[in-house]
Amino acid sequence: MRKFEEYNQFQVYGATVLTFIEGFSAFTLLANQFLLDEQLGTTDGAGGLVIEKEKLYPMSNLLRAFARLGKEFGDLPLYRAGLTIQKNAFYPPSMLEQGIAGAFDFIDLGYYLNHATRDGKPLFDVVTQKVRHPDGIGHYALRAVPGKREIKGFIDAPYPCPYTHGVILGVAQRFEPSATVSHDPGPCRKLGDKACYFTIKWS
Ligand SMILES: [Zn+2]
Repeated sequence: MRKFEEYNQFQVYGATVLTFIEGFSAFTLLANQFLLDEQLGTTDGAGGLVIEKEKLYPMSNLLRAFARLGKEFGDLPLYRAGLTIQKNAFYPPSMLEQGIAGAFDFIDLGYYLNHATRDGKPLFDVVTQKVRHPDGIGHYALRAVPGKREIKGFIDAPYPCPYTHGVILGVAQRFEPSATVSHDPGPCRKLGDKACYFTIKWS
């Protein structure tokens, strides 16, 4: 896996930072502290944490906070954080009109849309329909298998394996409530491999 410092030139919208708190809801104060330790968010007068959805935060700091969360509390809060991205992340309206297979064509664009360059330009430009830094933050590269109720592919984004597992389950179940996601045997980013491979199925 690449080092988090390699993402110093990128930022992430507060909506994604907020998924961190949701995944970690049983330990809100600790989650807030992890984020504050990485200069993510500010405290309000009452000791609460303020994260603004539309504001940009440094991506490598969020990656470090996620890594710390995983190290101290395991996969579950990471997985739950990924699932909740459905509630907070912004996707192009055209994605919502697609079925599950179409949705997975858009998930990578949604991922890029939720990140930005250091000077505040979203990595997916909705006006020109172009991606800035096409390989800058890795990909959610998952595609429908023709003739089957199945989607397969890989993820090489720097967010933790269980987090991205939760993300794709959340997307899949938004379209197909029976959807399940399994991590294919073999390479895993947790083991230092470049990518994780997943299979999504529904009935
Ligand atoms: Zn993995």
